[in-house]
Parts: sequence; C-alpha cells; structure tokens
Amino acid sequence: MNRKIRLLFLTISFGIFFSCSPSVYKNHGESRSEGTVGNGRLINGYKMPFRGGNFKYFSFTDYYLFGRCYLHSTLQKIVLESYRDMSMYYPDYRFRIMECSKRKGGRAIPHRTHQNGTSIDFMMPLKKADKVISRYDRIGMWRYLMKFDHEGKKRFNKQIEIDFDKMALHILTLEKVSRKYGWMIAKVILETNLKDEIFASRYGKELRKSGIYFVRNLPKLINEAHDDHYHVDFVPV
Ligand SMILES: [Zn+2]
Repeated sequence: MNRKIRLLFLTISFGIFFSCSPSVYKNHGESRSEGTVGNGRLINGYKMPFRGGNFKYFSFTDYYLFGRCYLHSTLQKIVLESYRDMSMYYPDYRFRIMECSKRKGGRAIPHRTHQNGTSIDFMMPLKKADKVISRYDRIGMWRYLMKFDHEGKKRFNKQIEIDFDKMALHILTLEKVSRKYGWMIAKVILETNLKDEIFASRYGKELRKSGIYFVRNLPKLINEAHDDHYHVDFVPV
C-alpha cells in the first residue's frame, strides 16, 4: 500500500477509535435520560468501567468499538453498589454486564430499547453440577447467541445450566439498591419459559413477593433472545 494512503488510513482509524472510544471519556456531573427506552436519548451518559472488583464488561469490541457501555449516572451507582453487595454472597464469582446504551443513547441495533441510558442487559450466571462455569462468559458478543432450553439448560450440553439462585438475588439486589437512590426496576425481560425456574429458585419466593415486574408476553423472536441474558429497565420513582 502506498505510504500516504497507509498514513491516511491510520489517521482515520485512530480518529474513529478515539472519537468512539470510552477509554478517553470522563464521567462528570449528572446524566439526563430523555424520552422512553424505545425512543429517547441520553445526555451526559456515564461510562461503565470495563472491569471492577467482581464484574467485567462482556466484550472488548463492544466496549471499545461500539461503545454501548453508557448509562445514567444514578444507574451506574446502583449497578456498582449492587455488585459490591453481591460480593458478600458470592465472593468468588465474577459477574458480566452486557450492553447498556450508546454514549448519546438512541437506537442501538438490534435492540428496540436501550435508547436513554436506563436499560441494561446482564449475562446469565452459569453452573455445572453446582459449580461455577465461566468458560462461556468469555466469548464476548457470541454470548448473545447461546441457546438454553425451557429449564435453563444449555442446548447440546444439558450439564451446563443457568444459575437461577444467583440471578434472582442479583435482581432483588438491584431493586433494593435502586430504591435507596429513589429509583426502581420498571421491568425485567426474561424468556417467559424461564420464569418458573427463577421463581422456584432459592430467592424465588422473595422475588415473587417483591412485585418486580417480569414481562408476561413477548413476541416470539424477542422472547427467544432473552434466554442468555436478562434485560432490566430502571426508572426514577
Ligand atoms: Zn436488552
């Protein structure tokens, strides 16, 4: 390649990388979420740290290239504090957070929501014979394509299953911490066939009693997409 073209290519690539990259972005002040999760925008969004004590953002590419790791400033406090609380129950487990919103919100294909910094996808914790299995937590964006049956067992390898106890406690913790900051969970989207399992888990009773809203009916495609992560929308009370 001609030297000039190569230089131009490098300059453009660096330009794109740095303009999109959350690595040079500083969180400050308060965020504002405008409109709705399905039609909105995020003003002064906060960037999630790529990793923290017991959590990690799920994909390097998603974080540094697509930059879908932004959320409302209060919500970031809620998420971080919830992870800290979870470390008391599961000190050796590393949680994974998946896509949030773009820096300024708006449509983030293929999501229909995630538009104003108040929607988050969380990766389902997995286990095998009651032991944590983290191999599948490291596959980045491919993780969105994993398939589980109606009992939360992995397709083609039924020994690997969703850890409903951990997920239920995480959702309860998110709600508890949200209330502390004057927010609440507006809704949880989870493959509807998996609701029996989460409500039958160790924290299921408490989850049912909490009144946290789990979406009841979903179009087939959207329903099927929520067997490897749980989507949570938050809202100020
Ligand atoms: Zn989502």
